[in-house]
Amino acid sequence: MGDEEKFDAVVVGAGPAGTAAAYTIAKAGLQVILLERGPKPGAKNVMGGILYNHYLEEIVGDAWKEAPLERPIIEERRWIMTQKAFIGVDYKNLRNREHPHSYSVLRARFDPWFAEQAEKVGAMVVPETVVERLIVKNGRVVGVGTGRGDDIFADVVVICEGIGLGAGLLEKTLINGIPLRRKLRPNEVAMAVKEIMQLDSGLIEERFNCETGEGCTIECFGDSTMGMSGFMFIYTNKDTLSVGGGALLSEFNATLRSPNDLMEHFKNHPSIKPMLRGAETVEYLAHLIPEGGYRGIPKVYGPGYLVCGDAAMLSNPVHREGSNLAMVSGRFAGETVIHAKETDDFSERRLHEYKGKLDNSWIMADMRKYDKAVPLLEHNPQMLTKYPEIADRALDEFFRVDGTSKWEKQSKILKMVRKEGGLKMVWDTLKAAWAMK
Ligand SMILES: Cc1cc2nc3c(=O)[nH]c(=O)nc-3n(C[C@H](O)[C@H](O)[C@H](O)COP(=O)(O)OP(=O)(O)OC[C@H]3O[C@@H](n4cnc5c(N)ncnc54)[C@H](O)[C@@H]3O)c2cc1C
Repeated sequence: MGDEEKFDAVVVGAGPAGTAAAYTIAKAGLQVILLERGPKPGAKNVMGGILYNHYLEEIVGDAWKEAPLERPIIEERRWIMTQKAFIGVDYKNLRNREHPHSYSVLRARFDPWFAEQAEKVGAMVVPETVVERLIVKNGRVVGVGTGRGDDIFADVVVICEGIGLGAGLLEKTLINGIPLRRKLRPNEVAMAVKEIMQLDSGLIEERFNCETGEGCTIECFGDSTMGMSGFMFIYTNKDTLSVGGGALLSEFNATLRSPNDLMEHFKNHPSIKPMLRGAETVEYLAHLIPEGGYRGIPKVYGPGYLVCGDAAMLSNPVHREGSNLAMVSGRFAGETVIHAKETDDFSERRLHEYKGKLDNSWIMADMRKYDKAVPLLEHNPQMLTKYPEIADRALDEFFRVDGTSKWEKQSKILKMVRKEGGLKMVWDTLKAAWAMK
């Protein structure tokens, strides 16, 4: 790179959002540079993670079949935990064998492959390059300044830096004295941790009841997060497990618990421990997840810039979706850049097309739908602590064969639920249904 180069677009960050944007722009024959601070794409990225192939296919077509994915997900398990039990819904869908829609993935393998696809269609991918600042001239973003000392100029900068809390470009760049994104509150961000644990692939299949090469997910609520709003997970990879989870940063602060406390608590739950026996931790990672909902979304376009993926707070923690919102928003940003180039108009008004695409897509429909879900759990901890306990005791009574008549058991259960849960539990259940409606 020379001292002053001009591209059609600079993309900051080679995660799913940035690579999708760079791929889309390069494929249309435009000059695009994708800057990544890690030694290679994926080196700095953490994800559970489950990737949804539909969105990948929309971008790279049939090439998605060559992607380094781990196992197709055939079974999804959701458990509500108490200290001594869990109540589960397990859904094994054999149609997923013919038509998988999600795969476990390790980002350290997936991201470099995805960036390579962008490179193949003409994007210039430059790792080991930290974007230190956005260059603003006359109230417009005109380029980026990198840690290598280069200034790179472009008609538009696509910001895909991930959540970038605190030190991120969005929070520190001002246009007319206003930051591009306000400071996030601790209850708009989840702190997530993950361990990659090595385990023989045959053992994974035995323990998790999977056929050869197939995978499952387990997501656990309630006691698994020590009652904090969030969830823990186990995802089966080829010969490793992704074990992790998270909760709101505000709740870690309030309880003085550390992410490590959470992991140890989860890994030692009597229902989890046997599944992890003998598995050796080979990597430990921590990361933040945006959970500000629809209300937390910043302005996603402006003079000379577009914002995608986690940087734009696009994530749906209820359905553990984030990579797909990142890829689709990156693609929309790419398409917007192409149209702007066609008309040689990179004005803020022209870039508004990106916001229109988001607003008319499933992304904003989902963001609006789940806007109240995270605050609901944050303000009603009983939903993750007391109510699972009540349900556990009711089921214990129901299943226990101990010389009591079924009539008597039924009446004992009803009395207990009425006394301990009462109308509030009914009301909370309705509120939860309303928040997820
Ligand atoms: C523990 C965990 C589990 C998750 N599980 C799932 C899951 O199962 N399914 C799912 O769909 N989503 C999941 N997510 C969410 C998903 O990871 C994110 O939504 C997704 O990665 C967002 O993509 P992105 O490209 O916007 O940001 P990121 O993936 O964060 O990528 C941002 C990139 O920008 C680079 N960067 C940052 N700043 C700079 C800079 N200044 N200069 C240059 N480069 C920079 C970073 O190094 C990084 O490569 C999970 C997240 C976590 C933390």
